[in-house]
Amino acid sequence: MVQAQIMDLLDRLRRELNLALIVVTHDLGVVAEYCQQTLVMYGGRVAEYGSVAQIFDTPRHPYTQRLLAAFPTIDAPRGSFVGIPGTPPSLSQLPTGCRFHPRCTQAIERCTLETPLLRASITGQAVACHLAE
Ligand code: SF4
Repeated sequence: MVQAQIMDLLDRLRRELNLALIVVTHDLGVVAEYCQQTLVMYGGRVAEYGSVAQIFDTPRHPYTQRLLAAFPTIDAPRGSFVGIPGTPPSLSQLPTGCRFHPRCTQAIERCTLETPLLRASITGQAVACHLAE
């Protein structure tokens, strides 16, 4: 309730003063409700970027996909919650290659060796994943 009041106030000020607002959050509900553009970070790097609609409707990075699948919703069927295996990396001991590879179910050998570049598609959605090249 307090969070919603604060977000409503910030959103009203943003509109009235014609400001940009950057929200750093793990709460996907806040992103869906208040944001236009979304930047998904993992291990200190950008994993994916796009409009809120792009990220929620057509996530292309495996981390974004798992993040959305792990987000509980009231109307989701019982037992449909799927967590992400493993734990986030320590920023002092980052994995080689793609930082998500120790937790990624789609990882290939290249993922352990090469850091994927952030590449944008013609739609403006950008993803840093070897499988998206
Ligand atoms: S680059 Fe490889 S490890 Fe990283 S998200 Fe893509 S498939 Fe998974």
